[in-house]
Amino acid sequence: MQTFSGEYVWVHDQGRVYERDAQQQPLRMVGMVQDISAAKAQEVLLRRQASHDYLTDLLNRRAGYMHFRKQLSYAQRYGRQFSVSLIDLDHFKSINDTYGHQVGDQVLKHLVAGISAQLRQSDTLMRWGGEEFLLLLPNTDSDGAFQLVEQLRKRVAEQPMPLSDGEVQYTFSAGVASFPQHAEQMDMLIKAADDALYVAKSAGRNQVSVSDEVTGIAQGELSV
Ligand code: GH3
Ligand code: MG
Ligand code: MG
Repeated sequence: MQTFSGEYVWVHDQGRVYERDAQQQPLRMVGMVQDISAAKAQEVLLRRQASHDYLTDLLNRRAGYMHFRKQLSYAQRYGRQFSVSLIDLDHFKSINDTYGHQVGDQVLKHLVAGISAQLRQSDTLMRWGGEEFLLLLPNTDSDGAFQLVEQLRKRVAEQPMPLSDGEVQYTFSAGVASFPQHAEQMDMLIKAADDALYVAKSAGRNQVSVSDEVTGIAQGELSV
């Protein structure tokens, strides 16, 4: 309902007839209109907290999983390429140890802001775990995904987070896997990206690695 001052409020409206004439037509009724805006705002907040990460405001793992499922089934149905990238901060434990947990939190936000600024609207970055993020890239093959994530990696490595008395230099490593080239199912795609991430970490960190899984489905065979 709109109030006199023009703002909208949520109301709970109830009423009943409590007096009728001889023909049972209503003569009087009583009712109550209650402003429940505060409860509604709380409900909206709780719903958002259930699907978003409090620190970065990205989709959390649970909600991200559902989003991922939808995107992948779209790619499967329409025969589109679809890539994912697992992004993990390098030596993040030592950033926490050196600067403190609070600065660590700021680094996570700084990373998310830096990456988000370069994504297309259809791409989704989600918080997959502590210092681990999953990037969904619809309509993107593994070459395209590698190029994009490599560009993100360079940018992050070149843009330290400023502090009042210095800066925090940080990097990430990433693994890329693509549908249908490396895996066809969601869990297998994540595993392929995770394996590639492990390769990037082992090879010295601050790098992007593409999965070497083979599904046997060539890209040209994708039916539309
Ligand atoms: P690697 O390069 O192998 O990934 O090393 P790493 O230190 O990043 O990895 P490790 O898994 O040993 O440590 C991850 C650290 O991330 C430990 C944990 O305390 C920290 N971390 C996870 N979530 C958060 C968070 O929300 N805030 C902060 N400040 N730290 C976090
Ligand atoms: Mg890490
Ligand atoms: Mg990790």
